[in-house]
Amino acid sequence: MGRFTDKVAIVTGASTGLGPVMAKMLADEGAKVVVAARRLELVEKAAAAIGDNAVAIRADVTSEEDVAAMVDAAMSRWGKVDIMMNNAASPGTDKYIWEQTLENWNQTIGIDLTGAMLCSREVLNRSMLERRSGAIINFSSTAGYKAVHRKSHYVSAKAALRAFTKVVASEAGSYGVRCNCIVPGAIDTELLRNYIGRIAAEQGNTYDEQYALNVEGTALKKWSTAEDVANLALFLASDAGKMITGQSIVVDAGSIMPN
Ligand code: NAD
Repeated sequence: MGRFTDKVAIVTGASTGLGPVMAKMLADEGAKVVVAARRLELVEKAAAAIGDNAVAIRADVTSEEDVAAMVDAAMSRWGKVDIMMNNAASPGTDKYIWEQTLENWNQTIGIDLTGAMLCSREVLNRSMLERRSGAIINFSSTAGYKAVHRKSHYVSAKAALRAFTKVVASEAGSYGVRCNCIVPGAIDTELLRNYIGRIAAEQGNTYDEQYALNVEGTALKKWSTAEDVANLALFLASDAGKMITGQSIVVDAGSIMPN
């Protein structure tokens, strides 16, 4: 028996990075998983790596219709949703505030914040409130604690997720539903490695030099892996986390230490 035997989970943004890793870890511990993202071929690949306990669906978290169809996929196949992983996100385009465009601002807030609201609302209405049980996990960023230049759109969305988490936890708590927020620092993903490679080239550094500069501010002098972050998500979603709700918990190798 795994920690998630008989549990049904939805993971958004399950096409690259943390999402597919987390979906596989949930399934390895017994969960049935809906893997959702905008690029169907990538979520189909993630679902194929899991097998019969996964279903792939194309869903843009900013579309009410797509989110409803995503939750339908879980309801029609398995009849409930126990775990909602609001992992989908976009960093938007880097712009100083005086260059900011409404499109970049609205798009980023739409995916990173409104998407989490739409998915949470749908699973609460379709399953969790009635069953008086469920765990919703939002994915913020340590950027939401910092004044990251050229990232007002992303910083604002990720900071707001921590406040949103408290309201969901408070409102849904008496229905037996918990909501928590994970605040990752750098996660060792292809996206981040490509970014460090690009900055290294710009600065005339080797990749290793740039990596060393990047981890300088962390206590552990390294990046988290996707598995490190997923481990916290799985703990919070499991019964072991049953008294934890409304919290934002940082996984960043000891960089910002906000509490
Ligand atoms: P990623 O970009 O690899 O994955 C995010 C996924 O969300 C992508 O697959 C993307 O296609 C998907 N997505 C984007 N817009 C979407 C939409 N409208 N509808 C559905 N899916 C959409 O990022 P990741 O590194 O795996 O990050 C996972 C989570 O952790 C995100 O919430 C991210 O903001 C957060 N985070 C990541 C880092 C990092 O260093 N990688 C740091 C801090 C926080």
